[in-house]
Amino acid sequence: MTVARPLAIVTGGARGIGAACAVRLADDGYDIALCHLRPSIAAEEVAAECKARGAQVYRAACDVGSPAEVEYFVKAAQERFGDAEVLVSAAGITRDVLLFSSTESDWDDVLRTNLSGVRHVCKAVVPGMMRRGSGSIVTLSSVAGLTAVLGQTNYAATKAGLIGFGKALSAEVARFGIRVNTVAPGFIDTDMTKALDPKAAAAARKSIPLKRFGEPREVANLVAFLASAQASYITGHTFCVDGGLTA
Ligand code: NAP
Repeated sequence: MTVARPLAIVTGGARGIGAACAVRLADDGYDIALCHLRPSIAAEEVAAECKARGAQVYRAACDVGSPAEVEYFVKAAQERFGDAEVLVSAAGITRDVLLFSSTESDWDDVLRTNLSGVRHVCKAVVPGMMRRGSGSIVTLSSVAGLTAVLGQTNYAATKAGLIGFGKALSAEVARFGIRVNTVAPGFIDTDMTKALDPKAAAAARKSIPLKRFGEPREVANLVAFLASAQASYITGHTFCVDGGLTA
């Protein structure tokens, strides 16, 4: 007899931290629905890695900034695999620029994806978790939401916003058995940090007590713990994975 695997939905699952979370959750026994912005070979590879770990996979391009696309994606995933037990909201972008040189569209793009996107996905997923009577939501904030980072007013506003969003949502859904936590990574080795100026990256490395960038799987380890029943009494909190950067 095959035992049904619960569903974990991962946004931004084609690359970096989201991809590592999808693969780790597949290892932990979940079926996986992952979304990303554009169709890509990377997305197909992540889906294949999840399948190799025994997961059924639903993969789709879905812009988290669009409530209609998010609703369609979550509905399609849940029709296949049942209501989600876990949501990892990892889709995110940067448009790093000093405030005085920044444009309205820098600001709008970052808020639309990083903040409104998380809101749309949570709104679409929570009703299914209420039906199940359990669920765990983990959103990806950043140390930029906690400390001063040059050139990131737009990004920092969204990442600090997610900390408040997570706290308020945790209070709202606790009575339905749903937990909400926030993970704030420091510098993690993904395409996002590969875009950093090499000098800035070297200076960042120097300032990190562990003297290196983190690996996506080191963030996924914490996300998987928070998603699991082992974290059954943890909700409404923010946890850093930053090599000691903000300690
Ligand atoms: P990444 O390597 O750049 O990957 C971002 C993923 O998000 C990609 O799969 C991308 O899709 C997807 N995405 C972007 N915009 C989207 C949209 N509108 N709708 C759906 N998917 C979208 O990023 P990462 O470094 O893994 O970062 C993951 C999360 O952790 C982000 O929220 C980021 O802010 C946060 N974070 C990262 C770091 C770090 O150092 N890397 C530090 C702190 C926090 P495509 O593949 O289709 O482009």
